[in-house]
Amino acid sequence: MKTVDQISFSGKKALIRVDFNVPLDENYNITDDNRMTAALPTIKKILNDGGAVILMSHLGRPKGGPEEKYSLKHIVSHLSDLLGQQVQFADDCIGAAAESKAKALGKGEVLLLENLRFYKEEEKGDKDFAEKLSKLGDIYVNDAFGTAHRAHASTAIIAQFFPNAKYFGYLMAAELQNAEKILNNAPKPFTAIMGGSKVSDKIELIEKLLDKVDNLIIGGGMAYTFAKADGGTIGTSLVEADKLDLALSLVKKAKEKGVTLLLPVDNVIADAFSNDAKTDIAKTGKIPDNWMGLDIGPETIKLFSKVVEESKTILWNGPMGVFEMEKFLVGTKAIADAVATATDNGAFSLIGGGDSAAAVAKFGMTDDVSYVSTGGGALLEYMEGKELPGVKAIND
Ligand code: AMP
Repeated sequence: MKTVDQISFSGKKALIRVDFNVPLDENYNITDDNRMTAALPTIKKILNDGGAVILMSHLGRPKGGPEEKYSLKHIVSHLSDLLGQQVQFADDCIGAAAESKAKALGKGEVLLLENLRFYKEEEKGDKDFAEKLSKLGDIYVNDAFGTAHRAHASTAIIAQFFPNAKYFGYLMAAELQNAEKILNNAPKPFTAIMGGSKVSDKIELIEKLLDKVDNLIIGGGMAYTFAKADGGTIGTSLVEADKLDLALSLVKKAKEKGVTLLLPVDNVIADAFSNDAKTDIAKTGKIPDNWMGLDIGPETIKLFSKVVEESKTILWNGPMGVFEMEKFLVGTKAIADAVATATDNGAFSLIGGGDSAAAVAKFGMTDDVSYVSTGGGALLEYMEGKELPGVKAIND
């Protein structure tokens, strides 16, 4: 794997694609800076070598032109604090001003470019736009795992302008290595825990995992599609009515492949989608009319936890309930505890990005698992066996 470790950046200008798409509150305060801290090792290595760093990223979903709320200038001061040095800012990611700022950058200095997505060419993967960006640095580094599944100008197309000078940053390398640990010769028992709202989003991954895992745990909103397919009543729980056959075929495939499929046996039900709702416990398939399942129940917690605690490899993607609400986070927290126990006993645990990462962070348990991925969609696609454009562009 071509990583930044393989060269010295002394006297060079590194153009690094990072993922600084951080959440900001209404006063532009960063509410979670994980994505920024995750990129620091790569930036520091290059600065310590005696190189200069030009950072490019997207932020939010601008409509193709500049928008104040999506300006990366809001993160300059926090990035300067994290690096312990003043970071310069270019208020356009391409053009004469950006080029002259990049050119004037001295050893050990850092320049952050304005939001790439202020140009619609970024997401279109426009070659001319990529070429303009490429003028800013001598070496291209991709450390943005969260967008590696997109063939955007800055994540993939740009690499062709650096045929002999393109590398993975440390974050990208760690993400890929940890995903590989799960995909190849994972110690058994191997348990995958799938949750979240929709089974349709994760179907390809689930099918792929059936060839690898010993246990497949399904919780969260997606479990109600299975309960309904099994002929149960689910009240007003989340369901994908057009995916009932799919659920039945997954149950069948699991059986054929000798995978133990675990579904919830009981549920925390509520009379409204609210933290103030009235709650009760109901057996799976026996949820009364006008009630909805919003978390796994106590019997399910025991059942799932035992399997997780006995595992040697764990992949977790998707919460067990509506963990954003205090009343319905118990199941997700219990599974996080079981993953932590297994990890403590020597298991390798990988937490897929997105909501499972948010849940683990909310419980303050990020250090109790083996690795928390920064990529939601990117990790899913990599695990499904797809070639990520951002990875291919460096490897080619
Ligand atoms: P996903 O983005 O598909 O991974 O889904 C994550 C979301 O699923 C979170 O926002 C959870 O609140 C939600 N979720 C989990 N369990 C349920 C449930 N039983 N009913 C409704 N939403 C759920």
